[in-house]
Amino acid sequence: MHADVIVIGSGVAGLSVALAAAPRRVLLLSAGRLAVDGASHWAQGGIAAALGPGDSAELHAQDTLAAGAGAGDLAVIRTICAAAPEAITWLRGLGCCFDVSAGQLQLGREAAHSHARIVHADGDATGAEVMRTLAHAARRSPSIEVQEGFHACTLLRDQRGRVVAVRGTDAQARAYVFRAPVCVLATGGVGRLFAYTTNPKFAQGQGLQMAMQVGAELADLEFVQFHPTALRPSDVTDVARSGALPLLSEALRGAGAVLVNAAGERVMAAVEGGDLAARDVVARAVYAAHLEGGVWLDARTAIGSAFPHRFPAAFAACQKQGIDPRLQLIPVVPAAHYHMGGVRTDALGWSTLPGLAAVGEVACNGLHGANRLASNSLLEGLVIGRRLGAQLREMSLPRVSDVCPAPAESTSSDLAQLAVCIELRSLMWRAMGLQRNASDLRSALGRLQDIAVAVSATPSLGPLGLMAAMLRAALARPQSLGAHWRQDDLRPPPGGSASGCTNAA
Ligand SMILES: Cc1cc2nc3c(=O)[nH]c(=O)nc-3n(C[C@H](O)[C@H](O)[C@H](O)COP(=O)(O)OP(=O)(O)OC[C@H]3O[C@@H](n4cnc5c(N)ncnc54)[C@H](O)[C@@H]3O)c2cc1C
Repeated sequence: MHADVIVIGSGVAGLSVALAAAPRRVLLLSAGRLAVDGASHWAQGGIAAALGPGDSAELHAQDTLAAGAGAGDLAVIRTICAAAPEAITWLRGLGCCFDVSAGQLQLGREAAHSHARIVHADGDATGAEVMRTLAHAARRSPSIEVQEGFHACTLLRDQRGRVVAVRGTDAQARAYVFRAPVCVLATGGVGRLFAYTTNPKFAQGQGLQMAMQVGAELADLEFVQFHPTALRPSDVTDVARSGALPLLSEALRGAGAVLVNAAGERVMAAVEGGDLAARDVVARAVYAAHLEGGVWLDARTAIGSAFPHRFPAAFAACQKQGIDPRLQLIPVVPAAHYHMGGVRTDALGWSTLPGLAAVGEVACNGLHGANRLASNSLLEGLVIGRRLGAQLREMSLPRVSDVCPAPAESTSSDLAQLAVCIELRSLMWRAMGLQRNASDLRSALGRLQDIAVAVSATPSLGPLGLMAAMLRAALARPQSLGAHWRQDDLRPPPGGSASGCTNAA
């Protein structure tokens, strides 16, 4: 196929670009099955949009800036928050069924949002409904060709340095090179680099690795959000093998569930905001309680018998582990959940390299700052994805000239193939997790070098290269900010961060 645009990734971001770019011919590459293989399909809580009485896009923007510890780009934040209501209208127009009562959209409330503004579907299954809708539209679009089971490995440039092609392998391990004047990375996050994560299989940061390899600028790699409440597996010794941990949405605490420690005491009792304090604050407190004997979510009184119909996905996950949350405490642990850092882009998704754009979780456009506000990421994928797609539809695209030969080493040695995968994920969890310090970060970097030698990998490329870049970024920021928590930071937090960044938690 001769494509105008190659989009790598079929989550909310990739599909939004592809649909908005029509009638441009888009080749959509997806490592797994269209629309169900990414984090988008797993999203629970919903999409933030200022639609309720007394709410406004500006209030949404201020909440976003505050959650990000003031480190976000206010212009980008305002653009995305202002576009949220229209994004919801667009999805509804495509047939997306959000939860309504008396003809009005139901608006949920989540931590660090000043207003109820979370649009959701089927209670806690928003992502599945949004992705069903987008996938249906994409399959009907004559301008979108989908290649499922295609694993992109390397970006290729022409003589002038423009990104013009993607190399990778299909499900039968046959190698292909696809060419187009524009390549869009929409490959999602990096959670699978950590022992405990809520992220799906392909969230190994391969888009970032490809971007690094061709010299695109990356930004804010140290900012990783840890969700406070993943369902703790019964066999904690084998956690790195267990894949993703089921998420227990913040909405549970929004409905009154509380965190308790091994002694049955409230974990968040003494902290401002209590169980609904900012996500990074709760995650650190849960981590501390986890190290001291364990932490549980108690939904028995607040939710009780309403649990199965109010939170069907969480209920099913608990049941799978033999827990009845109506009657029992739910064991939880924090887990790597979202990467605020990524390929540095402008407000339309363009990277620092010609021909290369990035949207969704793989990108860093300034929306999230040092900490993502809950339910802002589906929104980001929708808004920036559609804006980029609309621009691609209108702009004139250059012809693709010959591609340069790819560098000898590609990023194809993905994490799953590395024999040391479990050790690497544990290493990242310990050094790049909720409590960071210079000594652990340095020794993790040293260990990565040793591993690179042992497996004959180039230390600056592939998953090892990305992990090293993340560790170096964390080392380079000695002061805590948002989700980046330095135990060895003895200075007071800058300006008393609104994200509750305090070294006392
Ligand atoms: C359990 C969970 C619940 C969440 N709940 C919410 C929520 O309620 N609200 C919210 O706003 N956010 C939520 N998030 C975050 C949000 O889901 C993600 O940030 C967002 O969906 C990312 O969208 P994306 O399109 O960038 O990536 P994804 O949806 O992750 O899609 C990535 C795509 O890239 C493909 N890919 C990756 N590598 C390659 C490769 N090498 N070659 C080819 N294809 C590749 C994958 O196959 C996939 O198709 C949640 C996340 C999780 C994990």
